Amino acid sequence: MSLKSLLPLEAASPAYICPFDQACSYLEAAAKELRLDQGLVEILSHPRKVVTVSVPVKLDNGEVRIFAGHRVQHADVLGPYKGGIRYHPAVTLREVSALAMLMTWKCALLGIPYGGAKGGIAIDPKCYSVGELERISRRYISELIKDIGPSVDIPAPDMGTSAREMAWMMDTYSVNVGHAVPGIVTGKPLSIGGSRGREMATGRGVMIIIREALADQGRSLVGTRVVIQGFGNVGSAAAELLHQAGAKIIAVSTGAGGVFSQDGLDIPALKAYAAGNRKSVVGFPQAVSISNADLLTLPCDVLIPAALENQITGENVNQVQAQLIAEAANGPVTLEANQLLAARGVTVLPDILANAGGVVVSYLEWVQGLSYLFWDEERVNREMENLMVRAYRQVVQQSKLRQVPLRLAAYTLGVGRVAQALTDRGLYP
Ligand code: GLU
Repeated sequence: MSLKSLLPLEAASPAYICPFDQACSYLEAAAKELRLDQGLVEILSHPRKVVTVSVPVKLDNGEVRIFAGHRVQHADVLGPYKGGIRYHPAVTLREVSALAMLMTWKCALLGIPYGGAKGGIAIDPKCYSVGELERISRRYISELIKDIGPSVDIPAPDMGTSAREMAWMMDTYSVNVGHAVPGIVTGKPLSIGGSRGREMATGRGVMIIIREALADQGRSLVGTRVVIQGFGNVGSAAAELLHQAGAKIIAVSTGAGGVFSQDGLDIPALKAYAAGNRKSVVGFPQAVSISNADLLTLPCDVLIPAALENQITGENVNQVQAQLIAEAANGPVTLEANQLLAARGVTVLPDILANAGGVVVSYLEWVQGLSYLFWDEERVNREMENLMVRAYRQVVQQSKLRQVPLRLAAYTLGVGRVAQALTDRGLYP
């Protein structure tokens, strides 16, 4: 039985690319390469638990609205479930299920002892007041209280959520169980046991993986021309760190549109501008405006899609000019585009490697919390860098060994480790 029969079909348009089907295709490709037993593949292609809760919330105008809150727990073979909670209008159960599966492979690839999960609510956070978002977050987590826990399932920020939501969730969980439980979430504020370096972690990881990939080609970040789609937590941190390292960020966008400068954008100034412009970069002086579609096809050395999935597709892939693509978002390159890029010899640094910095520092936050010892930022960054560089080297080695592109190499490592653990643990009863 496939999960297709379990998950409601959420969109019927012919252009619809089902994220869960794509995730399963990558799993199947890795399983084929590894010659995995079909029974194992069946187990791994189904999430262990799929929860949708109803989240009733009183809005500021007195109206009561019901939101659907999802949490999908894919596999906990290697440890507690781990993964972010996303607030975005495009959230669907299929998307959350796909992202939960990706988290399983990501954690296994990075060698951190977690399984994969993801949560989400289909809302545009910009349309709600802070009070409404607090009530949504608190009610959502209280509805999931029996399904999560510091050694069961540990949420974290994702698109549309941040340390602020994690603090509300930690407080709600703690009040319900009667004592403070900092380990229930990661990506928390420092005041309640968060880790230094967590906020910049995903962007830092993206920078490290690009730096390593360029070094393998005998190049450096200095002077490298970079285009970034997305200027949220991940895109803006990657932009800042790449800029500091000497790269030229020639274009950046948000959902509202983008800006381009042939000579490179002043990233600190752009960050300050976006902060005062409802997070939009549109209208930034000393740059010309550019659409998201045109931004993806600009001539550049490195393209970083750091927004949503399915951005580089069969439709636009032939116009993409970058020779190196780093998937800072999850699944921004479709299966079809991925094959066409591989045929053209374009290097794609896959999401489960390129954007793993966030969950790596979540792990370091969890470790610090368990040991009641808190590290300075330099130590956090060093430990994270070691884990990221180790995973990058393993992926490159696997790619050479098996003569496969980096994505398949990364998947064979992640999937292979989970499959091995499942085999060793055996099937109960
Ligand atoms: N949401 C991030 C991711 O997709 C971080 C997850 C975490 O820290 O648990 O990797």
